[in-house]
Amino acid sequence: MSVIVQKFGGTSVADAEKILAAARRAIAAKRAGHQVVMVVSARGKKTDELVSLAAEITDSPPPREMDMLLSTGEQESVALMAMAIRELGEEAISMTGAQIGIYTDSSHTKARIRSIETDRMRAALEAGKIVVAAGFQGVDDEFNITTLGRGGSDTTATALAAVLGAEECEIYTDVDGVFTTDPRVVSEARKVDQISYDEMLELASLGAGVMHSRSIEFAKKYRVPLRIRPSYSEGVGTLVIPESDEAGRVVTGVAFVRDEARVSLVDIPDRPGVMSLIFSKMAQRKIPLDMVVQDVGTGGTAEVSFTVPEKELAETLTAADEAVRELKAGSVLHGTNVSKVSAVGAGMRTHTGVAAQMFQALAEADVNIGMISTSEIKISALVDRECCEQAVRAVHSGFGLEKETAEGPSVGWRRTETPLTGQPGEDLEHEVIARLATMEDIVVSEALLDADQSRVTIRNLPDQKGVAAKIFSAVAEGDIMVDLIVQNISHSGRAHLSFTVPRKDLEACLLLVREVLEEWPDAELTFERDIAKLSVMGIGLRSHTGVGEKLFRALADAQINVRMISTSEIRMSVVVDVDQGEKALRQIKETFSLTE
Ligand code: ADP
Ligand code: ASP
Ligand code: MG
Repeated sequence: MSVIVQKFGGTSVADAEKILAAARRAIAAKRAGHQVVMVVSARGKKTDELVSLAAEITDSPPPREMDMLLSTGEQESVALMAMAIRELGEEAISMTGAQIGIYTDSSHTKARIRSIETDRMRAALEAGKIVVAAGFQGVDDEFNITTLGRGGSDTTATALAAVLGAEECEIYTDVDGVFTTDPRVVSEARKVDQISYDEMLELASLGAGVMHSRSIEFAKKYRVPLRIRPSYSEGVGTLVIPESDEAGRVVTGVAFVRDEARVSLVDIPDRPGVMSLIFSKMAQRKIPLDMVVQDVGTGGTAEVSFTVPEKELAETLTAADEAVRELKAGSVLHGTNVSKVSAVGAGMRTHTGVAAQMFQALAEADVNIGMISTSEIKISALVDRECCEQAVRAVHSGFGLEKETAEGPSVGWRRTETPLTGQPGEDLEHEVIARLATMEDIVVSEALLDADQSRVTIRNLPDQKGVAAKIFSAVAEGDIMVDLIVQNISHSGRAHLSFTVPRKDLEACLLLVREVLEEWPDAELTFERDIAKLSVMGIGLRSHTGVGEKLFRALADAQINVRMISTSEIRMSVVVDVDQGEKALRQIKETFSLTE
């Protein structure tokens, strides 16, 4: 008999009436001939209330006790749900994470699932019961209760669907489905009917709170059919599928993190091993870095900047201070008044001019861009926090996302004949997944070397709105596929920008850029004709902080200096000297046990 997993979020089980409505849905699925597993979150704002209660007692609650406390929210919900189902005439059994056998590692408050037992659930399903599973929690080897991180019930649901081979995993929530951006911020946001795993993974990881990003990792890895739908109506919601072509759109959605923080390590040595040290310090604390930008300064020193969610800032600064102490050089700067706004779309793999269009939209809305970082299917810009909503709205309408039908390709936003090389091969991915020892382990399925790129760097640009828009609009006019773009935060009122282009387009690109730079005589244009870009591909690469750590350690061990970095959940790329490309590729393949 087929299994259906239905997950109900906090607002969807907030009171008795909603609990009964959710129970009715599960019963309907059962009566339609399915075995049903429900995954239930804590009611309403229960988890927030428990967090506040702990904060009234201590500023630093022990993580183990925090998990003990927060897991009670879900326990309350599952008991009430099982009662509701019985009241409505079906058999049900509630189970905590431990009772199911959801085993995790011991990193309290952000634990990862290691394995899930299916025997007890199967026995209950075979006995005709609806299984009501507590979301968000598990148990470690020592029987300590753990939690998976805020929003983690989505991950419980897709993980259970994966191990049970469910026909579908339905996520019932308080909106009609996945929107082009948070509908609470942009009222014109539009529900999308379908979205690809990769796009959903990036959107979730870049702040779209509708799904826990790790749940999409499970869904993609184990090919779980996933649907996000409203709990208050019969709406069909949004289907998450392997490949989507949302009516020919290049950009699918806009995500943002309002409370982001930036950190810079300045005056640090410019030599192999420095990035490795920084990434390993952060990985020890499971802090995922985003928007990593590095600049080679003068006199053998370098500067690295990145962003983290503001709630991780204190730990990040401790880790950064440790790194600086070990390097015996440099200092740490940070800023908190910033937000990260990102555009995501699989069409970026094959279209030019997308970055230009985003920067143009921000410039027209009078928003200055502090930092830029791009990856295969996303572009992120760091902006002043007071401009966050304005920036989200500008990017959303800049790409015409509120419109029911996509506009024809705009000028400089054309499909190119030379798409970015190397999308992850599906078969390879599945071979790697089959080898995984634990359920939420890292998936790195492929490493690629692209030796046909050049790097362009412009230093000393004015730190003012519209600069990036002008430069990338000019490049787009030449129909040139710009890949990695990074712009560092300016500490001196001057911004530094680097990007890569196919080598065959370098001359044309330089001509176009030189023309624009006439407006800013202080700007210095440099380029490197021959660079090597190395990428590792997989699933969940940014949030599994161990991937960056391993990658940079491998490069450091081979004495390879990293020149540019770009990270995302599906691809992590570094630029190195061209003559070190082959060696770096071998080293990376060995590190991630990828066969030639
Ligand atoms: P649940 O309690 O059901 O897990 P969440 O609050 O975690 O619900 O997620 C649903 C909320 O996510 C919506 O109310 C919406 O405000 C927010 N959200 C953010 N980005 C998006 C988006 N792109 N599409 C839909 N909802 C979004
Ligand atoms: N109750 C937890 C939270 O509020 C988990 C969840 O709802 O997914 O974060
Ligand atoms: Mg949620």
